Amino acid sequence: MKKYIMALDQGTTSSRCILFDKDGNIASLVQREFPQIFPSEGWVEHDPMVIWSTQISAATEAVLKIGASWGEIYGIGITNQRETTILWDKHTGEPVYNAIVWQCRRTARICEELKEAGYSHLIKGKTGLLIDPYFSATKIKWILDNVEGAREKAERGDLCFGTIDTWLIWKLTAGKVHATDYTNASRTMLYNIKELDWDEELLRIFDIPRAILPEVRPSSSLFGVTDKGILGYELPIGGVAGDQQAALFGQCCFGKGDIKNTYGTGAFMLMNTGDVPYITDDGLLTTIAWGVGDKVIYALEGSVFTCGAAIQWLRDGMKLIESAQDSEYYARKVPDSGGVMVVPAFQGLGAPWWDPYARGIIIGITRATNKYHIIRATLESLAYQTTDVINLMEESTGIKITSLKVDGGASANNLLMSFQSDILGIPIIRPSCIETTALGAAYLCGLTLGVYKSMEDIAMGKRIDSIINPEMDDGWRAEKKAIWKNAVNRCLGWKA
Ligand code: ADP
Repeated sequence: MKKYIMALDQGTTSSRCILFDKDGNIASLVQREFPQIFPSEGWVEHDPMVIWSTQISAATEAVLKIGASWGEIYGIGITNQRETTILWDKHTGEPVYNAIVWQCRRTARICEELKEAGYSHLIKGKTGLLIDPYFSATKIKWILDNVEGAREKAERGDLCFGTIDTWLIWKLTAGKVHATDYTNASRTMLYNIKELDWDEELLRIFDIPRAILPEVRPSSSLFGVTDKGILGYELPIGGVAGDQQAALFGQCCFGKGDIKNTYGTGAFMLMNTGDVPYITDDGLLTTIAWGVGDKVIYALEGSVFTCGAAIQWLRDGMKLIESAQDSEYYARKVPDSGGVMVVPAFQGLGAPWWDPYARGIIIGITRATNKYHIIRATLESLAYQTTDVINLMEESTGIKITSLKVDGGASANNLLMSFQSDILGIPIIRPSCIETTALGAAYLCGLTLGVYKSMEDIAMGKRIDSIINPEMDDGWRAEKKAIWKNAVNRCLGWKA
């Protein structure tokens, strides 16, 4: 009897495996952290073989620790850190270099040159992305240009490129399948998200041979089966999506205008924009949300650099709280922030301000201000920053957002969630299972394998922990937002 769907959640700091039952409950969870490699200032790498070994051992342990058998597993869904780039030898399977991680800034110069050459508009129009070292294209180019023999091999068709999903599929199928899904392809900066194909012009600009690229398939489709020599069992790989897109799917944001925010170290918002790729010039990214069957859904993506990290600062830098959870307890000791605003622009500000020179500010302090006001104002800053991005998405698309689905560590904070609801003026929906990324991969796989009949079927079974409704009126909202805007204006351009 089949009971579980296996989600492989390959993240930036750990490889995790979760077994979900059909109702989306967690039956088993195993996490294996792995080392980050920092070869020089601003460079970040992972060992591809360690990614593989931690992922496969997490999977094996997740099955063994609950006494399950491989025969009880329907199949595997994969979700992964996006953009991270691996090139390996097609014949030996050996990586020619470490994985260059999305955070790695080594290709900043290449990106500057592309911008100076005037490619920004062309690249945005085709890929929905801004020119930045995050995305895979310049990382591939760097490996081809800097690893001895790599370019010759690539041109002979002896190399494979993959994001982490592609690497895991290749390893799980013992080299039989070289494929990725729409969501991961859409983060490479080589994929034309409108034509749904690798783009010849971009391949020329980045000087990357097409022969190294994987086949691109719908996120919910059969990618292959695991080789018997790997797990001792042939399991279908039925779903693949990059982490943020998987979370959007796991949150069942299936309708146009449905949006989720993940409150982690930073905050990531993705909004389903249906079958329309809204390409905007306001700093938001356009990306593929998923492909299911022959239908492709697009999303707008915006992020906040400093979200939960501001709570970490209260704890580790300011020593005002002992744990992140304490922030709620202390913030509740005052009825509001007493007119204090904290703008945690520690690394500058992103959308909609786009100012790398902005720096943090605490303003509105009076003799009556105490530490609880500062804690409360810091918590509220997470909600204000989220609101700025969401309002920008609404303005850019004309789509009215009617509720916000939340996950990530700080979404557990009830005070933050009610303030978020008040300042947005819409309900906040928090799911019972906050492992939405892994759940999204499991759903995509379950959909392929017929565990779920349809996306409606998935959405019907989705359980909600709480819905938080706004209690404040438009006048209150307008006043608060005006004060926030004032505070932000005062921190812009601070660091010359
Ligand atoms: P990441 O995946 O980026 O590591 P997580 O989703 O695990 O992030 O969330 C951790 C972040 O959330 C931390 O920055 C932490 O400060 C913040 N956080 C965790 N719990 C709370 C809480 N109850 N209230 C406010 N912030 C919290």
